[in-house]
Amino acid sequence: MKILFYSPQDDAADYLRDLSNALPDAQFREWHPGDTAHADIAIVWQPVPDVFAGRDDLRAVFNLGAGVDAILALERAHPGTLPRHAQLVRLEDSGMGAQMIEYVTYAVLRYMRRFDRYDAQQTESRWQVVDAWPSATFTVGVLGMGVLGAQVAKALAQFGMPVRGFSRSAREIEGIETFHGEAQFNAFLDGVKVLVNLLPHTPDTRGVLNAQTFSALANGAYLINVARGAHLVEQDLLDALASGQLAAATLDVFHQEPLPATHPFWQHPHITVTPHSSARTLRAQAVQQIARKIDALSRGEPLSGVVDPTRGY
Ligand code: NAP
Repeated sequence: MKILFYSPQDDAADYLRDLSNALPDAQFREWHPGDTAHADIAIVWQPVPDVFAGRDDLRAVFNLGAGVDAILALERAHPGTLPRHAQLVRLEDSGMGAQMIEYVTYAVLRYMRRFDRYDAQQTESRWQVVDAWPSATFTVGVLGMGVLGAQVAKALAQFGMPVRGFSRSAREIEGIETFHGEAQFNAFLDGVKVLVNLLPHTPDTRGVLNAQTFSALANGAYLINVARGAHLVEQDLLDALASGQLAAATLDVFHQEPLPATHPFWQHPHITVTPHSSARTLRAQAVQQIARKIDALSRGEPLSGVVDPTRGY
């Protein structure tokens, strides 16, 4: 089996070594411009269209991340880029779930226990107790009840705060009040004090973090966006912070990454910025998962994590 690797963000030699160890019978190579030789499978992150040029022989394309928005956007911009018969397969958790739980739990507890206020008070050497928000009324709403969102929701519920989840189709998750579909969106938002976004970026979810959404939350709510920058209408966030409709936001993802040095988010007193680091692809786990799936594929078994391009995730 011949397997191509392409990622502008990773050291290909490390991946090629670990993949070869996991699948010793396969032949791996890094894709370079001009390489049109036969391949059965491609493992990619943010590929350029040429990676797929003339590759109708590909059986599967493995995406080195959970979100496939970049690869599907490529297909929308250049129709026919993705090989017609290849399954597009994304990473499922592969170590990202634990990282996402840590990041979101930290951000939620930071707001509930008012550490954001203490950070500000310390810059003025001010000794003043600020009442914590009572956990029983500190309702958290998690947008997206998939592989990552469901884990985050369950972890937060352990702290005694009411946790809601929102998805496209109906989900039942113990300890979580679940909502689904557009018709239940406002009921999901109503009274939410912390909104956590873990939706995939699709044409349906683009711009979902907007003024209308913010106005349906509890007054002085908090926003945590760990999904994609394209979900957020940036000016609406700045306006909601200025009016007090939102109290603060923790943002890991942005329309433009790296976030430009002149961007107002950097200096905003109520915005915390991290550099798209909430849950990174861990090579060892990613290689293990992809190798297991390539084995399954070669035995003709069905795979999990296959993307439905019509849904966009
Ligand atoms: P997933 O398993 O595919 O889950 C997606 C969830 O979103 C599902 O519950 C799905 O509903 C729901 N959904 C999709 N479209 C919707 C819509 N229009 N309305 C309501 N709900 C909708 O994805 P995942 O593995 O949890 O990852 C989620 C996203 O996190 C990724 O797409 C990626 O963008 C982001 N991410 C970010 C980082 C980072 O470092 N910042 C790391 C990893 C992932 P159903 O349950 O009904 O299908």
